Amino acid sequence: MPATQRRIIPIKLVTAVTAAKKKAKKKKPAYDCRKCPGYCCSYPLIEVNKRDVARLAKHFEITYEQAEKRYTRYDKSEKAIALRRQKDKHFGHICKMFDTKKRQCTVYEARPGVCREYPVAKTCGYYDFLEFERDQQEDKKFVATTNS
Ligand code: SF4
Ligand code: SF4
Repeated sequence: MPATQRRIIPIKLVTAVTAAKKKAKKKKPAYDCRKCPGYCCSYPLIEVNKRDVARLAKHFEITYEQAEKRYTRYDKSEKAIALRRQKDKHFGHICKMFDTKKRQCTVYEARPGVCREYPVAKTCGYYDFLEFERDQQEDKKFVATTNS
């Protein structure tokens, strides 16, 4: 592991949203998701509900059952419906609906509710870390990873 890499323990996205909601303030966020390689899309469990699945089904013009099968999985340990994942060269795995080349969501208009809300607070811990590492590396496109 390069010396510039640090470890951040991934957290369950839905839990992070719930906690952050309590602290949310209506200020301009101190992060820019357009400049981020999509760290939060690599969280191990991004929980969705039936409304989210229905939105995806409408977006792709497929049935609810097809959307559920293609884009979600049941996590036994968490007893929750979550987004499926794909391999990612930076973070190991990432949401199936993430474009790993362009580093952006492919279903932005139809993304699940939790994706719309995250990180809720005016700061994003990963983005702070990313900016710090990019400054250190003097590389505006450096992808800071959190693997040990
Ligand atoms: S919320 Fe944070 S981690 Fe997620 S895309 Fe935006 S800047 Fe990146
Ligand atoms: S649906 Fe889009 S915003 Fe949500 S985790 Fe997947 S790629 Fe990220």
